[in-house]
Amino acid sequence: MSNNQYSQRDNSIRTKDRIIAWPRMGNIDLSMKALVMGLDAKFILPPKNTNEALEIGVKNSIEDICLPYKLNLANYIMALEKGANTLMMFQAPGSCRFGNYTKMAQKTLNKLGYKYDMCVFDMYQSKMKQTLEAFWHVTRCLNPYKYYKGFSTGFNKAFAIDTAERLLFYIRPREIHKGEAEKCYKKWYKIIDETTSVRECKKLKKRVIEDFNKIQIDKDRIVPKVFLLGEFFVLLDPYTNQEIEKTLGDLGIEVQRQIFFSDWLEHVLKPSLFYKKESHRERAVRYAEKYMKRAIGGECIETVGDTVYAARHGIDGIVHIMPFSCMPEIVSQNILSKVSKEEDIPVLTLVLDEQTGKAGNITRIEAFADLIRRRKIKRSKKCNQEIK
Ligand code: SF4
Repeated sequence: MSNNQYSQRDNSIRTKDRIIAWPRMGNIDLSMKALVMGLDAKFILPPKNTNEALEIGVKNSIEDICLPYKLNLANYIMALEKGANTLMMFQAPGSCRFGNYTKMAQKTLNKLGYKYDMCVFDMYQSKMKQTLEAFWHVTRCLNPYKYYKGFSTGFNKAFAIDTAERLLFYIRPREIHKGEAEKCYKKWYKIIDETTSVRECKKLKKRVIEDFNKIQIDKDRIVPKVFLLGEFFVLLDPYTNQEIEKTLGDLGIEVQRQIFFSDWLEHVLKPSLFYKKESHRERAVRYAEKYMKRAIGGECIETVGDTVYAARHGIDGIVHIMPFSCMPEIVSQNILSKVSKEEDIPVLTLVLDEQTGKAGNITRIEAFADLIRRRKIKRSKKCNQEIK
């Protein structure tokens, strides 16, 4: 294991004294907890992202750094305050600031006087090997069954909760009894979190589907579909994106979010020999071709490619979300105005930062929902007339 992978590597912490923490982001805790518990390691979850966390992040960061960094840093500080001493972090050195997150966080945490070991997964290096090495570094576990158990339960939980989310997004605008899908999702979140056996975890996804399918829906309701896309962190973190899926769903819009943690995990960790389908990025690159020749970091090319794909596959609109000052998404925002015109698809871009008030965004989302609904009704009337 090379030292530069773990630049803050501290071997003075004894394995049995290690208390692991990682940044909060949507549902990743379910999988991380399963993995860490499978390896018999101790962990601390920092509190969920809230205004309090954001205040801590803002106070300890330079002003124009992006929002996800501020929250990640706050998560570390809050976890260290609760007793964590081993911090885990993903890193993907590229053309955006994500490549500098760990170095910047280390500098700040050192200045604040914390003692810790930071274990970095560099996702541009050999992915599975990196991941195994990182977990070996913090647990010193050599038992292959424990790795199997940790990864198997972690993966299955990720797929189960993402399936539940997809079904929630589909059913919420169509349900007959308001709130049923949300209730079902919350119930399954708890069950998925509490399930520990490998056998039971493998059955979770199927059980989730069966249960959601029992919810009564109105199949004839006119429900416009939107692709929700943009920067990875804001898409997955409900605090940062102000629960935009719920806002849209309650307005009668079906949300098809383009990034899910389980898809990303599968693509990153599955050996290419077993990854047969076209990945999300490959599809995006293919569709973005006319507007963008190469990826420039972050999710820029996915944002452009997914928008073109949506326009050509009957999706009614695009909701593009990005943190304030996110470099790749500023580029895609500029390209999207051209894509929107040429491919004839309405696009709503929302820029999120610590100053963003929910009320202002809701007004814009409501107006957008109204626009795409009217467009959909007009189009279906035209289509019916042509058939007659
Ligand atoms: S993609 Fe944007 S928000 Fe995310 S790290 Fe890069 S610059 Fe920051």
